[in-house]
Amino acid sequence: MAVQPIDTIQSYHAHVYFDGPAQRQTAETLREQIAARFTILIGRWHDKLVGPHTRPMYQLAFPAAEFARLVPWLMLNRYDLAVLIHPNTGHPRRDHLTNAMWLGEILAINAGPLPEHESEHAPEIIPNTNPTIQP
Ligand code: ZN
Repeated sequence: MAVQPIDTIQSYHAHVYFDGPAQRQTAETLREQIAARFTILIGRWHDKLVGPHTRPMYQLAFPAAEFARLVPWLMLNRYDLAVLIHPNTGHPRRDHLTNAMWLGEILAINAGPLPEHESEHAPEIIPNTNPTIQP
């Protein structure tokens, strides 16, 4: 087995899932709390299923340097929502299915739309938050 160096990780995603109106409300609260604390890119709401995801969600995109702050904070503050955290190494299938970690419930991932190799380089993460609170 070839060892993969960690610098193959260009960035991370955390996908925050919600099921039904009550969990969507919770996900909204969580989203606001994250935006107030972390310099990351928060994606739009996906109330309809997209890509490999089998539950509505939104995405958090963040550089590797933010992992050590954001992920522990999510461990403590995810309000029982399911969260998928995966690296972006240019291999979407492997990143979502093999290299990922879950907080809370483990959901199905639909491998169909996930290519083995990224066709283009991952876009640079341009944060859209303005944190005012120390996590
Ligand atoms: Zn993702």
